[in-house]
Amino acid sequence: MGRKRRKGGGGNGVLQSLPVLAVVAAMGFDFYATVFVFLDHWIAGGVQSDRGLFHAGVFTWITFMCFFSFFVAAVSDPGSVPANYGPDAENPQKEGTKSRSCEKCDAYKPPRSHHCRVCKRCVLKMDHHCLWINNCVGYSNYKPFLIFVLYAAIGSLYSTVIFFCDLFQTNHDFTMRSTALFYVLSGCLLIFLSLTMSTLLGWHIYLLTKNMTTIEFRGFLRDKWLAEKSGEKYRHRFDIGLRNNITQVLGPNILKWLCPTSLGHLKDGTQFPVSS
Ligand SMILES: [Zn+2]
Ligand SMILES: [Zn+2]
Repeated sequence: MGRKRRKGGGGNGVLQSLPVLAVVAAMGFDFYATVFVFLDHWIAGGVQSDRGLFHAGVFTWITFMCFFSFFVAAVSDPGSVPANYGPDAENPQKEGTKSRSCEKCDAYKPPRSHHCRVCKRCVLKMDHHCLWINNCVGYSNYKPFLIFVLYAAIGSLYSTVIFFCDLFQTNHDFTMRSTALFYVLSGCLLIFLSLTMSTLLGWHIYLLTKNMTTIEFRGFLRDKWLAEKSGEKYRHRFDIGLRNNITQVLGPNILKWLCPTSLGHLKDGTQFPVSS
């Protein structure tokens, strides 16, 4: 089999950059509205009071970490198949962990890797191609992606709470159409972001605890149904226990779990332990 490989990440066109710009704009708007409008209006003494400064400081940190992990996930290589990769002849190809070949790349691909039609290459332990970071989410950038979703969910919920505190605990002049419109649009955006990011976070925490990717989940449902139909108990083959599942993605040091650039625990992403 030939060794031809196609390089490249997500698309670089203007169209592909629009969702990324939309995320950055949403983060910027959320920060401005939360700190300089809702918080400043809600807290007596404004954002420069002790309480105001505390909330502003915490929210600034959340926004910074959200943006930083977003940036790391967006610019990182999600995981390229090593140039010299080939199936290990001495390693009997266990069921479900065997290497396969990719017709489009005309090359072998390791277990858990998939070909991304947008990136036009195989990505290690591919989870999905994310429009919003204009990049694949795979073996090497799943941790920063997960941390981004976590901070985005926390930030959205934080903003929404401050928004409602301001809305219900202080007086507003909603006869001014621009003020009313600003609050209606901001409220809709914050509630939407809180719901979607919290749901996405819950979903990826579930996948993390099961050591599963979004792609594998589809096969998991089918295989589970087939196994249960024939009276067998089914377990995802890469599910090696809660603790091991988490440390495979976040690393062994709990103090570095929320650091998007702490990726020293990652290996080459071509081999994964399986449950016995
Ligand atoms: Zn491929
Ligand atoms: Zn992709």
